[in-house]
Amino acid sequence: MSWAISFISVHGDPLAPLGGPHHGGQNVYVKELSSHLGALGLNVDVYSRWESDQQPSSEPYSRGARVIRIPVGPPETIQKESINSFLKDIASWIPTYQVQQGLHYDLAHSHYYFSGAVGVHLKRTWGIPLVHTFHSLGAIKEATLGEEDHSPDTRFRIEQLICQEADRIIATNPQEKEDLRKYYQADPNKITVLPCGVNLKLFQPLPQLESKKEIAFSEDTFLITYVGRLDERKGIKTLLEAVALLDDPSIQVVIVGGPASEKPFLSWSDLSRDPYRPYAELIDKLGINKQITFTGGKPQDQLQKYYSAADVTVVPSYYEPFGLTAIEAMACGSSVIASRVGGLKSSVLENKVGALFEPRSPERLAEKIRIFHDQPAMNAELRRNARPYVVEKFSWKAIAGEIARVYQELIESGESQS
Ligand code: UDP
Repeated sequence: MSWAISFISVHGDPLAPLGGPHHGGQNVYVKELSSHLGALGLNVDVYSRWESDQQPSSEPYSRGARVIRIPVGPPETIQKESINSFLKDIASWIPTYQVQQGLHYDLAHSHYYFSGAVGVHLKRTWGIPLVHTFHSLGAIKEATLGEEDHSPDTRFRIEQLICQEADRIIATNPQEKEDLRKYYQADPNKITVLPCGVNLKLFQPLPQLESKKEIAFSEDTFLITYVGRLDERKGIKTLLEAVALLDDPSIQVVIVGGPASEKPFLSWSDLSRDPYRPYAELIDKLGINKQITFTGGKPQDQLQKYYSAADVTVVPSYYEPFGLTAIEAMACGSSVIASRVGGLKSSVLENKVGALFEPRSPERLAEKIRIFHDQPAMNAELRRNARPYVVEKFSWKAIAGEIARVYQELIESGESQS
């Protein structure tokens, strides 16, 4: 296979630092998938909007994969919602660049709905097949978040258009396939369910007690790890309220995420500023200051010790299209308690690697934490199962191979040559 693929990931630069409000799972997915496709012999150009004028306009990062920065809109990170106003310019910049550089693509793969709008334009312009991964669905986000959802009104219509025009949709879990059918009337024959993968080299189990020591927790604490953005919909408040209900000072929580920080732990004065402030206020109100530690955002190659140190990793999201942190935690040998939503419902197998609870319910989460705390032998078994389960189900090498087969089918069948 030696095809040239263009990834359209307008706000998901594969090389962006993670943990802050704007960069998360999509950036990781795009980087890992393109790198693994590159290792299979494909050439992948990822088109992302620039976020600084100091970034190289084109930057290779692994065999066969590079990011091309689109110089449209201000050279800084902007709110996702504002990107819509630059889509037309982005959609015309890419083909102009492609002609100037003499590039040819066999297929386009777009990520997130507004990149999908650009993808539809490129499919029509270049006459090549279009594959799309949604990463998040407007209809479900609205249904689960209500007024907390700030997506523009055009989102649903663009998502419908993508469902009609894309030659294939990669859904990352069976629930997403069902949602696409139900809310967007997408043709199920066009949907292939393939999960996100995990980097099994970066995420490996380290000895638990040494990891606890390394991140300055004592052996006898029951350590809960949370990793992710500090977005409201991630449900950190549910976790804090659950900890308060448990009223047990041996339970400690480490929260990894937020703007990048090199400090091992943030001080209370750091926490008086956004994005930490609302959490710090709640922690104060609940009287659990001694049990909660924030580290700020950390690069992915530093996360292994937080997951490995955990007695359990908690993913308390209100809404979670896939939830990479759950499989990263399991890859490091941690059991997982996650809310029963989206992709977490199928990735966190109950009684094998973890437990599920009703989203937004501190009471139900507290019950689960109590069980894990009081039954160490049961938790130890889940922890033992976690890594082999992830190796079997979420290897990027295997998933990228499946996605390459989807490309092959579309390219060889000459789909979209009209
Ligand atoms: N992440 C990170 N450093 C942090 C916090 C998060 O590298 O401080 C990464 C984490 O490893 C995961 C991604 O950000 O790969 C978050 O993806 P997920 O699917 O869990 O959530 P999203 O951000 O897409 O909502």
